[in-house]
Amino acid sequence: MRAWVVDHTAPADERPLRRVDRREPDPGPGQVRVRVSCCGVCRTDLHLAEGDLPPKHPGVTPGHEVVGRIDALGAGASRFGVGERVGVPWLGGTDGNCRFCRRGAENLCLAPVFTGWDVHGGYADACVADEAYVYRLPETLDDEHAAPLLCAGIIGYRALQRAAMPAGGRLGIYGFGGSAHITTQIALHQGLRVHVLTRGEGNRALAAELGADSVGDAADAPPEPLDGAILFAPAGELVPVAMRALDRGGTLAIAGIWLSDIPSLRYASELFEERQVRSVTANTRRDGEEFLALAARFGIRPTTVAYPMERAEDALTDLAHGRFSGAAVLHNEAAA
Ligand SMILES: [Zn+2]
Ligand SMILES: [Zn+2]
Repeated sequence: MRAWVVDHTAPADERPLRRVDRREPDPGPGQVRVRVSCCGVCRTDLHLAEGDLPPKHPGVTPGHEVVGRIDALGAGASRFGVGERVGVPWLGGTDGNCRFCRRGAENLCLAPVFTGWDVHGGYADACVADEAYVYRLPETLDDEHAAPLLCAGIIGYRALQRAAMPAGGRLGIYGFGGSAHITTQIALHQGLRVHVLTRGEGNRALAAELGADSVGDAADAPPEPLDGAILFAPAGELVPVAMRALDRGGTLAIAGIWLSDIPSLRYASELFEERQVRSVTANTRRDGEEFLALAARFGIRPTTVAYPMERAEDALTDLAHGRFSGAAVLHNEAAA
């Protein structure tokens, strides 16, 4: 089968991926093999290819928003049948036994397995996954539109929980890419007021189209103080900006896996009065199930840009340069 691998880490423009032929993986005990139909392109893939995230294995295949049908079951795998459509997400495994897993915080597991970082992901014709970490997907969405739910959607949902919003509260969204535009839809359906602060005309137009209460530039002050905010842009310099926009007692959640350095904070205007800043690390399977149920109920529909699997590198460079709004999704014609 064909698969993209991170050959060496380098800026996306220098094409750090390579396409290889590799033996098709056999599902191990408790695993399923998924014939990849679509794979979403997440900013984490870009961080991995560019070396912001250290590669854990040479030649790993990125991709952790994988949609496809099961074509083989490993020994003991019984949760799904051959032919079922499933989604393979970022959280591919945990030890189930560390102090965090035991208290229900498996997102903080000390020995996690992340799809497309620890093990091969979905920029390929097929991948294998532990069936316990695989999701059923809302029937309302086709493969292309279901793919971005699997990381962008789930992580955004966790970030929204971490922003600790009061009912009907005022939410700020900093940065408006794949994750933010899905989270905005959830927040609006939940009755929150949403203020989007982002660079890029295309992003601002999409935010307005989705019904945001206001849309401004990332450096602008929102029109009203915020009860909570989520920083989706990987830009540490926006942390003080967002903290200043918070009302007393407000919470900023930083959604990304990678952030540039945060400048110093001024205590009086950016932290005092019980403003809080929190990070978001991966997600639990419960977050995933809750989010996918809400996405189905609310009819969440990501805005996507399709690329053939052959053009995975173009999708990454376009993401790096902010050339599209919404989420890029690779289509694997070999599965069609
Ligand atoms: Zn654990
Ligand atoms: Zn991701």
